[in-house]
Amino acid sequence: MRSMKMKITRVNMLILSLSLSVVAMGGLIYKQQTSKDRKIAIGDLKKLSAAEKVAFTDRGDGVFLSKTKPGANDWLAQQKEPGQTFVSYLNSTPNLPGKVRSVIYILPIGEFPEESAPDLQMLLDYTRAYYHPMEVLMKPAVADAEVKAKSRINGRVKQWLAPDVMRWMKPQLNDDAYAMISVTMTDLYPDPRWNYVFGMASFRQRVGVFSFARYGDKNRATVLRRAAKILTHETGHMFSIKHCIFYQCNMNGANHLNEMDATPMHLCPVCLRKMQHAVKFDVVERYQKLHAFYKKYKLEEEAEWVKARIDKIAEAK
Ligand SMILES: [Zn+2]
Ligand SMILES: [Zn+2]
Repeated sequence: MRSMKMKITRVNMLILSLSLSVVAMGGLIYKQQTSKDRKIAIGDLKKLSAAEKVAFTDRGDGVFLSKTKPGANDWLAQQKEPGQTFVSYLNSTPNLPGKVRSVIYILPIGEFPEESAPDLQMLLDYTRAYYHPMEVLMKPAVADAEVKAKSRINGRVKQWLAPDVMRWMKPQLNDDAYAMISVTMTDLYPDPRWNYVFGMASFRQRVGVFSFARYGDKNRATVLRRAAKILTHETGHMFSIKHCIFYQCNMNGANHLNEMDATPMHLCPVCLRKMQHAVKFDVVERYQKLHAFYKKYKLEEEAEWVKARIDKIAEAK
């Protein structure tokens, strides 16, 4: 997962000094995907509706950008990811919501100061649009003091041990919960050897925790985009969707903020198809919900992209 990246300066310096061999290694780890690979990853669309065929087709017109070659410090240069085609997703017997476990819960922990934190209503609105038609509910916020987790001070910053937070969450899962995701402004670490982690999730345990402590930016739209991306990306993992290696996509792994900022908010055809299998949305309805969200929060670029998709699908009907 994107959040498992180690950020120890010593290690990064070592990587920089060995950049040539890292690039070579990156080349070995990640095989650049061809248009044929991407087509295979999307899978056979014959039995789908006209609208779905358009939604899941890459016409090579630049709407969906193929995955760019990773730089030495980027995710795919450092993590071996074989990629997950739509068929391999089906064969993995993915975790799926059912009649009983059907709600995504968001649990805010602690304060979300207006000047530095993403807006919780925005996160709720976005998750609802993204995972339409699943029910998404926000639980009442709990105070930091209620969290039973080991903590440490790392460079004056308080951090919680993320697996402890997840253990604390697990008994609080409602009977109708498909998954519960905690959001916090407190920094996290996954294990004492690591400097920090953006978040952790376990689809088997159906709980995850994500910190927005490191997403600060003067630009509010940047803070909003980062928080919205990480929340929907990690929720994607809850449906057993693995990292995307085929396109520039919200399911791409990311090692650092620049890499995350370069990924789009939308899903590529491969991941969109997996998500539809899990959540069972109508492709146009979902894009309409997203369009309303992007308009409301003034993310004009994303609003235009989604609108163009809606128009394209309409042509096919
Ligand atoms: Zn991930
Ligand atoms: Zn994708």
